[in-house]
Amino acid sequence: MQASLQNFLQYSLDHQCDWSPQTFIIDQHTQVEMPIFGVVIFTPTNVSEHPKHVVYSSGVHGNETAPIEICNELIHGIGSGALKVVHRVMFILGNLPAIAQQTRFIEDNLNRLFTPELQGEGLEIDRAKAIMLEMARFYEGVQGERIHYDLHTAIRASKNEKFAVYPFLHGKPHKKHQLQFMSDCGVNTVLLSQSVTTTFSYYSSRFHQADSFTVELGQVRPFGENDMQKFAAAKQMLQNLITQTELELTPYAQCPLELFTVNQVINKHHNDFTLHFADDLANFSDFKKGDLLATESGKEYRALQDAEAIVFPNANVAIGQRAMLTVVPYELT
Ligand SMILES: [Zn+2]
Repeated sequence: MQASLQNFLQYSLDHQCDWSPQTFIIDQHTQVEMPIFGVVIFTPTNVSEHPKHVVYSSGVHGNETAPIEICNELIHGIGSGALKVVHRVMFILGNLPAIAQQTRFIEDNLNRLFTPELQGEGLEIDRAKAIMLEMARFYEGVQGERIHYDLHTAIRASKNEKFAVYPFLHGKPHKKHQLQFMSDCGVNTVLLSQSVTTTFSYYSSRFHQADSFTVELGQVRPFGENDMQKFAAAKQMLQNLITQTELELTPYAQCPLELFTVNQVINKHHNDFTLHFADDLANFSDFKKGDLLATESGKEYRALQDAEAIVFPNANVAIGQRAMLTVVPYELT
């Protein structure tokens, strides 16, 4: 087994500054490419009749370790021959300097930088540009299904521990089989976004026509402290997707999915912006119509309807930034 695949995470951390692109073949059946540090592409030499082109990104936030561990294990499995991919897959370790320091980011939140218009330079800016270039190369001219799961763990606890964000589709339909896949991963809470953003999953969805999700697999923990049992279903499904020609998914009607859409986007305008609930209140905790959610000079924010829930509240964002979303239940027809 190639040393680089034994522990791809460690290899990438060790060779950030002296990465030399390599290509080789595993047992005559899988071509391996490592174009830039922290990125490895596996291509089966036998092309499937219904090909899929799958991207798994992890460590876009450096301290979100569980998905990095999952991807590292899958890469090890492929490298050792224990797993044989039948679809093309690209693994991306997002922010390696931040992973090394076990912090969310170094200079900029990498998951706000994915736009073709990205300007300037900096550690995360350069990385976002390099990743976008590799993704464009990966998807260029390919036939078949395009899938991208950007794997995260949430900062705060969630009432629904695992949840996913389905990026804004600009009017295209949401795909039930994608939601079934999420459900079989144990991700039953899905937020259907309705706005343009600069997250990685929106970028791949919008600019590469991938079926994309930001997937929050649980709560942030340091390396080695993740209860991997909690991630077993997700890991198994991520493995099945690339090693099985077709997947058998639980029928949509039997999936315990809860879908939400955004009701309010609450931005912070003043320094005295205050949340009117406990700091550690779980994501997706719901309120009654009229309940006070937050205040700032000259303004108060209330739940506009029953069962309106809060997501990603953060009073400490910069002025002008989003301090909180509220969401309401939604049914897919
Ligand atoms: Zn994250």
